[in-house]
Amino acid sequence: MTLRTDPASPPRPPRERLVVVGNGMASLRFLERLTEGAPGLYDVTCIGAEPVAAYNRVLLSSLLGGEVDAAACDFRGLDWYAEHGIRLLTGAPVTAIDRANGLAVVGESHVLPFDRLVLAVGSTPIRLAKPGMDLPGVVTFRDLADVAAIRAAAVAQARAVVIGGGLLGLEAAVGLARLGVGTTLLHVMDRLMERQLDHEAAGLVKRAMEARGVEVLLKADTEAVEGAGRVERLRLADGRVLPADLVVMSVGVRPSLALAQSAGLATGRGIVVDDRMATSDPRIFALGECAEHRGQTYGLVEPAYEQAEVLARHLAGQEARYQGTALATSLKVSGLPVFSAGVVDTPDDAEAIVMRDHGAGLYRKLLVGEGRLIGAVFVGDIGEQGWCKELIRTGAPVSEHIEDIMFGRPAPRSLAA
Ligand SMILES: Cc1cc2nc3c(=O)[nH]c(=O)nc-3n(C[C@H](O)[C@H](O)[C@H](O)COP(=O)(O)OP(=O)(O)OC[C@H]3O[C@@H](n4cnc5c(N)ncnc54)[C@H](O)[C@@H]3O)c2cc1C
Repeated sequence: MTLRTDPASPPRPPRERLVVVGNGMASLRFLERLTEGAPGLYDVTCIGAEPVAAYNRVLLSSLLGGEVDAAACDFRGLDWYAEHGIRLLTGAPVTAIDRANGLAVVGESHVLPFDRLVLAVGSTPIRLAKPGMDLPGVVTFRDLADVAAIRAAAVAQARAVVIGGGLLGLEAAVGLARLGVGTTLLHVMDRLMERQLDHEAAGLVKRAMEARGVEVLLKADTEAVEGAGRVERLRLADGRVLPADLVVMSVGVRPSLALAQSAGLATGRGIVVDDRMATSDPRIFALGECAEHRGQTYGLVEPAYEQAEVLARHLAGQEARYQGTALATSLKVSGLPVFSAGVVDTPDDAEAIVMRDHGAGLYRKLLVGEGRLIGAVFVGDIGEQGWCKELIRTGAPVSEHIEDIMFGRPAPRSLAA
């Protein structure tokens, strides 16, 4: 018997198998864009270590403080993955990548073959290498499980110490204070959020934290966490001792590199990728917080989303290149709007133009070098932030716009009329 093929409907070539490791914010955005741009092009499997599908990690601070419930953090239901032909495995860490045979190992022994692989494994919170950091009651702040652990410890009369005066530390501290927990925030530097804020802006943020019931200690270097079987106190290098039932460690994150390193991919601070998000192995891609592009790793959603767009377009066969993301921070520190972009502290050869009204919690600083905007820090009112980002990115002359940036652009005539 001869097997014949109907010329009108040639057999469909087998689809390439695409395995996505990690189901966080970058991974989901990539899957959304890929299934919009090239539906059905790949046979897609996504594997996430967390027990639930991707959720809005940015909202964890609000979830901690009880401003939103868990449902508000949901993105796509399991039915969305099924409808788009994506096999989703949750609670299943990928433990190894066998590049020679094109296999991803899940858990102990389950093996998934791939033609292309995407690493979207995010970052891992850093734990200080000090005594007592593994005692029960010392937690990090990265995922839903961390929020559950913090909320479980945040009982009446509890005392909490948050280590780290960056954005996440501030959010954790305010969330705990909102739950009625006596909270102290420790920061080793002499101002909060020193990478995004100058001294004056950081001072306003500190005041806002204190107004929300958080005690803030600067230049506070943690020596050890102590307790008999569970955290009871925290000792500072200067000898001060703070009672603590809960210690939240928020001293930064490290891109998750273990898988890439053991697979022999090129890594620096992150997994090294080119403008198409390809790693040193052209079948393997990386995006989000785990990726390092042109020497830069990112810790915010916006770059992760831009990378997801580029990779989805590239894998759909379109021309797309990632050029890096101009870093700007725009956030609310517990309701207080804060914006910062470019240079924060005034360089010798630049001019600082400042407007302040501390009583109203307002502060605006523009840094101008050679007639161009090189940095901006706003607290209280962050209007014109988009314009500032654009001016910094393009390097356009700024002198004639200063007043409009500081005081806002006048409404168009027709509207004003
Ligand atoms: C509390 C909090 C507040 C934040 N607020 C802001 C904000 O206001 N603005 C902002 O821009 N950014 C904010 N961020 C940062 C933002 O959430 C991250 O930049 C973003 O989530 C990065 O996306 P990602 O996909 O790279 O990493 P993630 O979202 O962390 O996803 C990575 C996923 O990969 C999984 N994974 C890791 N290893 C494996 C493995 N071996 N196998 C399978 N799965 C694995 C992880 O479990 C995780 O689910 C905040 C973060 C936190 C924690």
